[in-house]
Amino acid sequence: MNKKSIITAMVIIGLLSGFAALSACAEPPGKDTVGSSPGSGSVNGEEEREPESTEREGYLLTVDGNPIAYIENESDIKALTEHLIAEHKKYLSENGKSFDSVEIKSSFDLMLTKCKSEDVTDADGALQRLGASGVRITYAVTAKETVPIAFETVYKNSASYYEGTRKVQTAGKKGEKQRTYTVTYTGTEESSRELTEEKTLTAPTNEVILVGTKKSTASTGSYAWPTKSVYITSYYGWRTINGVRGYHYGIDLRAAVGTSIYASDGGKVIFVGTASGYGKLIKIQHDNGDVTYYAHLSSYSVKKGDRVYKGQLIAKSGATGRVTGPHLHFEIRKNGVQVNPIKHLPKL
Ligand SMILES: [Zn+2]
Repeated sequence: MNKKSIITAMVIIGLLSGFAALSACAEPPGKDTVGSSPGSGSVNGEEEREPESTEREGYLLTVDGNPIAYIENESDIKALTEHLIAEHKKYLSENGKSFDSVEIKSSFDLMLTKCKSEDVTDADGALQRLGASGVRITYAVTAKETVPIAFETVYKNSASYYEGTRKVQTAGKKGEKQRTYTVTYTGTEESSRELTEEKTLTAPTNEVILVGTKKSTASTGSYAWPTKSVYITSYYGWRTINGVRGYHYGIDLRAAVGTSIYASDGGKVIFVGTASGYGKLIKIQHDNGDVTYYAHLSSYSVKKGDRVYKGQLIAKSGATGRVTGPHLHFEIRKNGVQVNPIKHLPKL
């Protein structure tokens, strides 16, 4: 007898304390419920005599501490458990529950003891008595399931596309992972479920979306100030400089030499060069035909023929041409005629 059997035996003695004279020969477990039905002892209509009750040795089978039956051979347990596993697999299949393997978790213990020879049964008999006993077998079922893995969406800026444009560079694709559970059943009732393994079968492919950053060079139809900070030093219209009265066909904005100058709206650069009085000059033609002038520059950032977007850096300011000091001279021409830029620029 190994240690486990001894402990089991002690438990059984405790449980069977109500049984009469266990050491001599215990009342067979489950006899009341599974015993012979009326008439079963009758052969050819004649009363069959009770066989002589002889004592012998048999294995008392206990399941989870519950005495079930006396069996003849230890090997009967194998047939018994195999049958139970097969039954449970059938139950799972019929109920649409997936499984990989089914094991019995209940403890089946045997103890060699004395009993009446007619109480000893085989695997089938033990199974019958087990069923009648109401003892519920605990099963451990491993089951796998395949679940999708969502993909992520990644956004990447792209100067190849205009602002507001999005383009799928790589289509997203879901991945798959396999989860393995150990599900415990008490009888046919699921009593617990444990996730024991999770592995990726196929990794998802992230969706890559290109987000256009290229500015549209189309004219917006509205003008922006050509400098970041705006301070008007001379307005459009009549003015007197050094006692000379003259008409000012644009506005002058305070700009130290090297101040960044930006396109007032999208359009096409139609002139980059020096012009009388204007010094270094850039002209941009907008889609409605208007032309803006940026004069007295020190350097250019664009060349003739370029398309520029509204707000694009086009030059650095300076003091070239006819000036009394560095500033930006800015004009808007409609049909070749200068108009008051203030009427077309955002309010300050
Ligand atoms: Zn001016």
